Amino acid sequence: MKQKHFLFCGPSGSGKTSIVKHLLEKFPFMRFSVSCTTRPKRATETQGADYYFLTPDEFRKKIDDNEFLEWEEVYTDRYYGTLKSEVERIAKQNNSVIFDVDVEGGLNIKKHFTGNLLAVMVMPPSVEELHKRLIARNTETEETLKIRIAKAEHEMTYRNQFDHVIVNDDFDKAISEAEKLVNFFITA
Ligand code: 5GP
Repeated sequence: MKQKHFLFCGPSGSGKTSIVKHLLEKFPFMRFSVSCTTRPKRATETQGADYYFLTPDEFRKKIDDNEFLEWEEVYTDRYYGTLKSEVERIAKQNNSVIFDVDVEGGLNIKKHFTGNLLAVMVMPPSVEELHKRLIARNTETEETLKIRIAKAEHEMTYRNQFDHVIVNDDFDKAISEAEKLVNFFITA
């Protein structure tokens, strides 16, 4: 049987990272695909566990060396990308990859899999709520907040390209829905 993999996309502030973290605890066969980024590390984050934090030059070298399954430059020198080596490493261990990427990256990842990837979009209940959550998270400047909100509005227009949409207005409900989707997909 082909290994099955999981893609969780959605605007930042939708709660998808918390849902992914919960699924990783719940399902021991899942492994997180650690992405590369050039954004500064947050105090709560660990190098090599949350992301591989790179300089823009280090990131560009990996692009030149064709190391990415997909990558994006969100704005000048702010890169995010999924390493081919992460997917290979996890698949070799016979585990399932779980991706937590933005929508554009997710749609690119989808192209590399046929029938063995569950693609889920996590949406905030509204743009107003997303705005509130991003302010409460206190990780944004006024400028990056604006960019993230505009990006979120654009991303949500792609919801029809996903197998399922979870509207995250209640975290407990959202994780229970996510667990059901995973269980259904692995036994299908
Ligand atoms: P943050 O800076 O809040 O960690 O992430 C910003 C956005 O980039 C989120 O939507 C996150 O899921 C996305 N992201 C994280 N890793 C990747 C990746 O490897 N590729 C792409 N395309 N987006 C990513």
